Amino acid sequence: GALIAQMLVDPVGLILRWYDELQVAQVSLARLVGVREVEPDAGDAAVAPEGRHVHADRVHFGYLEGVDVLRKVSLEVAPGTRMALVGPSGAGKSTLGRLLAGIYAPRDGRITLGGAELSRMTAEGVRSHVALVNQEHHVFVGSLRDNLLLARTGAEDAELWAALGAVDADGWARALDDGLDTEVGSGGLALTPAQAQQIALARLVLADPHTLVLDEATSLLDPRAARHLERSLARVLDGRTVVAIAHRLHTAHDADVIAVVENGRISELGSHDELVAADGAYAALWRSWHG
Ligand code: ADP
Ligand code: MG
Repeated sequence: GALIAQMLVDPVGLILRWYDELQVAQVSLARLVGVREVEPDAGDAAVAPEGRHVHADRVHFGYLEGVDVLRKVSLEVAPGTRMALVGPSGAGKSTLGRLLAGIYAPRDGRITLGGAELSRMTAEGVRSHVALVNQEHHVFVGSLRDNLLLARTGAEDAELWAALGAVDADGWARALDDGLDTEVGSGGLALTPAQAQQIALARLVLADPHTLVLDEATSLLDPRAARHLERSLARVLDGRTVVAIAHRLHTAHDADVIAVVENGRISELGSHDELVAADGAYAALWRSWHG
């Protein structure tokens, strides 16, 4: 697509063009398209997962040298299961999500997917298996088509429409005079937050990763839009391994496994019933939530 082509020939121009949309100074294209921040050209194409088991083994991470955000975090997520991460603000949940999605590499320890270490895989390899869904940066300046092609370069229009249909976005998209050529982002058509989220979900459908990390996907929306989007999201999640960062406990309640993150560590791990019975931090959270 045009954006990818421009990225290759003119990364600075691309960043400037996107800047007001992003509202952040430290822009990284890797981050925008949901791949790792570290060394985008690195990685070994021969390092490929065999299976879908997610495994974090004694992971340490900090954004700044000497400041630990995650300490000795170990986790296993079985294929097709749901794990919820809960815990206080600043505990490291979003950071752990970024590591599990291969956006950052651990400073120490390993994160493997089907036995392959994420930090040794190519960015493209990582992206084809695992994706991060959050509220950041859903729509970029460019056409609707450009926005979708970020997820799968070279996809045919019919595939783009199918992806829009899969997330219930084809109704409004078909009503656009310029269809997939419609310019969106700043200066173009202003999409509602719900439409922007649908674009992000349509990108997921196109990329088709088997593992998803969700960081608070619907809370910015009004309740009706949120319910609508949750139905689309439920379809997109079906059959995939999901690690959901749950800011609301009802998301955690239904998870196969809940991991409580406190101060950069996993302090409790188990099902809702197990953690309530254990009467620790999760049980306290649950009781306070019930008033
Ligand atoms: P949570 O999602 O549980 O609220 P985060 O993972 O967002 O926690 O944050 C964990 C710690 O890492 C916090 O101290 C936070 O200030 C810090 N942090 C998060 N993102 C960044 C970043 N991009 N750069 C530097 N520090 C960060
Ligand atoms: Mg967070």
